[in-house]
Amino acid sequence: MAAEARHFKYVILGGGVAAGYAAREFREQGVKPGELAIISKEALLNLTIHFFFQVAPYERPALSKGYLFPQNAARLPGFHTCVGSGGEKLLPEWYSEKGIELILSTEIVKVDLAAKTLTSAAGATFTYEILLIATGSSVIKLTDFGVQGAEYNNILYLRDIEDGEKLLAAMQAKKDGKAVVVGGGYIGLELSAALKINNFDVTMVYPEPWCMPRLFTAGIAHFYEGYYARKGINLVKGTYAAGFDADENGDVTAVKLKDGRVLEADIVIVGVGGRPLTGLVKGQVAEEKGGIKTDGFFETSVPGVYAIGDVATFPMKLYNDQRRVEHVDHARKSAEQAVRAIKAKESGEPIPEYDYLPYFYSRSFDVAWQFYGDNVGDDVLFGDNDPAATQPKFGSYWVKDGKVVGVFLEGGSADEYQAIARVARTQPPVVDVEVLRKDGLEFATKI
Ligand code: FAD
Repeated sequence: MAAEARHFKYVILGGGVAAGYAAREFREQGVKPGELAIISKEALLNLTIHFFFQVAPYERPALSKGYLFPQNAARLPGFHTCVGSGGEKLLPEWYSEKGIELILSTEIVKVDLAAKTLTSAAGATFTYEILLIATGSSVIKLTDFGVQGAEYNNILYLRDIEDGEKLLAAMQAKKDGKAVVVGGGYIGLELSAALKINNFDVTMVYPEPWCMPRLFTAGIAHFYEGYYARKGINLVKGTYAAGFDADENGDVTAVKLKDGRVLEADIVIVGVGGRPLTGLVKGQVAEEKGGIKTDGFFETSVPGVYAIGDVATFPMKLYNDQRRVEHVDHARKSAEQAVRAIKAKESGEPIPEYDYLPYFYSRSFDVAWQFYGDNVGDDVLFGDNDPAATQPKFGSYWVKDGKVVGVFLEGGSADEYQAIARVARTQPPVVDVEVLRKDGLEFATKI
């Protein structure tokens, strides 16, 4: 006989960044013990003792940064949510003390929104009154495109802590070896730096004319590419991995590029993007731009079902547009907004619609940048983007319809980052672009 379904008033499906911040907000809004459960497939395999540990929500960005440091590396429980935004670290005990159920190592394979029922891979069922979908993204794999040899050993990806453990094990096994990083986005840039710091001989490969083309202009990329080259990282641009060679054990030995070149490799790390995990509710809920469509309170087309974090396509009020954002700041804030909205509905107290200012950051080696707003219109580079600068500080404005709509800054202080955020939010007019270029950061700090 099938076991009876477990029932919770609120269920968060997914146990990543958005889930952790939603749990904290539920607690702040007065959730009662036994009302809330987080169901997540995330688990950590200890490769030495072959044992799966359950993993409570953690700050995913740490995986490509402090987690890979050769010394004083970040390890759980050090980076559980909500430590990444300066908040309390929610250890597994925090959840049990508050009566919030963590149902981990549990993959949900079926979601029936009409029946308000979730079914796990092991056949357990869960019912709910309110559901928050927080399944995040999965990495795009080279095997998805049938790239020859993409299944060989030590061709790795990084999305969760289990991937992180595999990467650490490979780095240990291939110590001081050759690493090829496929992809020139922020994951590729951060991982290349981490491998270099760990004494690997690193080559980055990407098809675009410069790294991070979705955000970086040629002027911004000029700095980072030069900086990486000075750190000893080889950059191979304008081509991509078309196949791999392996030894008799199936361990990767080389990356074969589309342009005919061959790069020796002991480890390959692929960072070519992600896909929102919306498949479980496909056809049951309205979708837009590849995500689950929500209103400004993150409620979907199905009443009582919310989508937060990477999977949500929500109204970006500032730009009067529907957008999906795959960044940690939005994962945190959308989670808080959804929980406030749920509780507000219950109490009949209205709350304002989500009014998000896009924010994204990255750091590697000794450089760190932040970006606020929208990177559309004409870009105006300011400051000194010389890769050899001892204390690099430069940036870019984006000007559209005579207004500054986006700002990027490398090497800023806390006050300067606040200033560029203010500019991106208030969109001040620009009379003369050349004056803006000359004024540089001062334009932002004066506002
Ligand atoms: P996630 O944090 O991915 O959580 C999704 C959760 O759902 C996971 O626990 C997953 O196991 C679970 N899940 C999925 N499907 C199921 C299922 N069927 N059953 C049960 N559980 C399921 N953003 C930045 O802004 N700056 C950065 O520097 C940065 N660095 C990053 C570095 C790395 C290595 C990665 C992978 C991402 C980084 N990001 C960064 C992006 C950021 O981490 C994500 O945008 C954020 O984690 C999204 O939060 P989320 O809760 O929507 O999804």
